[in-house]
Amino acid sequence: TDISKIRNFSIVAHIDHGKSTLADRLIQSTNTVAERDMKAQMLDSMDIERERGITIKANTVRIDYTAEDGETYVLNLIDTPGHVDFAYEVSRSMRAVEGSLLVVDSTQGVEAQTLANVYHAIDADHELVPVFNKIDLPASDISRVAEQVEDVIGIDASGAIAVSAKTGQGIKETLEAIVTQLPAPKGDPDAPLKAMLVDSWYDSYLGVIVLVRIIDGKLKKGEKIKFLSNDTVHHVDRIGVFRPEMTVIEELGPGEIGFLTASIKQVRDTRVGDTITHQRSEVEPLPGFKPAQPVVFCGLFPVDSAQFEDLREAIDKLALNDASFSYEMESSAALGFGFRCGFLGLLHLEVIRDRIEREYDIDLITTAPSVIYDIHMKDGTVTQLHNPADFPDPTLVDHVAEPRIKATILVPDEYLGEVLKLCQDRRGIQEDLTYAGSRAMAVYDLPLNEVVFDFYDRLKSVTKGYASFDYQLTGYRQDNLVKMSVLVNDEPVDALSMMVHRDRAEVRGRAMVEKLKDLIPRHMFKIPIQAAIGGKVIARETLSAMRKDVTAKCYGGDASRKRKLLDKQKAGKKKMRQFGKVDIPQEAFISALKMD
Ligand code: GDP
Ligand code: MG
Repeated sequence: TDISKIRNFSIVAHIDHGKSTLADRLIQSTNTVAERDMKAQMLDSMDIERERGITIKANTVRIDYTAEDGETYVLNLIDTPGHVDFAYEVSRSMRAVEGSLLVVDSTQGVEAQTLANVYHAIDADHELVPVFNKIDLPASDISRVAEQVEDVIGIDASGAIAVSAKTGQGIKETLEAIVTQLPAPKGDPDAPLKAMLVDSWYDSYLGVIVLVRIIDGKLKKGEKIKFLSNDTVHHVDRIGVFRPEMTVIEELGPGEIGFLTASIKQVRDTRVGDTITHQRSEVEPLPGFKPAQPVVFCGLFPVDSAQFEDLREAIDKLALNDASFSYEMESSAALGFGFRCGFLGLLHLEVIRDRIEREYDIDLITTAPSVIYDIHMKDGTVTQLHNPADFPDPTLVDHVAEPRIKATILVPDEYLGEVLKLCQDRRGIQEDLTYAGSRAMAVYDLPLNEVVFDFYDRLKSVTKGYASFDYQLTGYRQDNLVKMSVLVNDEPVDALSMMVHRDRAEVRGRAMVEKLKDLIPRHMFKIPIQAAIGGKVIARETLSAMRKDVTAKCYGGDASRKRKLLDKQKAGKKKMRQFGKVDIPQEAFISALKMD
């Protein structure tokens, strides 16, 4: 392909602003896919993505477009993940293209993820083409959105294209803008091969599929290539492009985006952002490469301990296809055998947990999500704490440091008070507060551990869904953090222990024991429920004993009714875990940790 006829781009947008629908229209209007094969959201492949309407893995498509100048161009669209957990992947895949369509829903305006993603695009030196979508809707207000884009993002919006991805209006103009406003890639076909590993995923027929962007040189089938990050060599057995289905081609040259397969067994062996060259070539690695690090940890245990091996198998399989997910075996006095797993964020956690439950049919107990704390010991050593249950003897600890984030929240004025209160409650420090149009943008420095559990849910509920949120990790800071343990019937339940700020421990402890009192069914005996720091009890409730046997009232009555009741109790039991003499229902582990 003539490099001057290539345009590589991505689409940046806040969730639901129409990125996938616009991609569909671009594909459809260029007849990349035959009309009868067209289905909604072509690029969102995984089931879970469709259901939740989010794109998790980057996807790509190559479009041939004959422009008004009569020339045929090759347009490569890389669809980037839309969620904050995958920010690292977004920033890497942006480096594989030269420009972006900045899609803003003209009935909504600029949101937090619009900003976060546009910053990634600006960091990657992209040319930006603003596209105002959903102009078919009566609430569409293009001049207001243009003003916001200029004020908040600071780019010229006078050339913005008015589009309806639904009706197809403005699609032709968008394609022309891609060709005329975005630059062609640069690259030297005669230089040694240098390619960027943009993404990789597992395919059950072909093994690992690697998405690459060729910077310099050429890549052909049969060649031996090397990954610079781990110095492994692979034999390329297939190269091709996505239209959007996989189409094998002979070679990829500079500026092109395509895939290769090379009998790679696991996604773990490939790293997003890595540099690829020929086995015997020497090239400078692409700058700034770092593998994605998990930031949120929790324990996953099978409800039925007999399913431990099934869980191991499920986790092994999922990990093959997800290098950013980490795990190790964990044993808990209360929950038996399970795994301590690390995730990029809460959404990532939820996605993995859902897949295990659904695709592998295993009921799980998920322990409280925790961040990684730095424990500074009195002897000067520093250890990383992934699990509150492992907190060392407090008399040996000098201090604890926790990860902090910079959070950006955009919200209509009328909900600002609620948002400020929420951030305050979560130990936030306000860094900035500005207004644009009828909306406020609040920037907060917050502890990550106050955000991982239910911050986003709370934010949505106090703003009726109108707030948008994005964050990035900033670093570690010391604070007065302690481990709070929970004792049920005098037995510590390690899965419920958590790190809390000392000033909030009483409030959190009280909320926790009150919740547990409601969640744990009565037994034949009295059950004390306590929260404690070290040996000191900070909150206590007592669950009184059950007065009589539930089946007693059926006595002498209908035998089948009694049977049913017993069966029901048994089914209920399955979802319980025994702690000493006490049964605790599975949902207690999640509910008890939610803060209201
Ligand atoms: P994404 O999250 O950015 O990928 O957004 P989607 O493409 O999934 O679109 C979100 C919702 O907006 C879907 O229900 C679409 O059908 C709808 N939508 C997208 N573009 C338009 C448009 O131009 N007009 C209207 N009326 N709805 C649209
Ligand atoms: Mg989408």
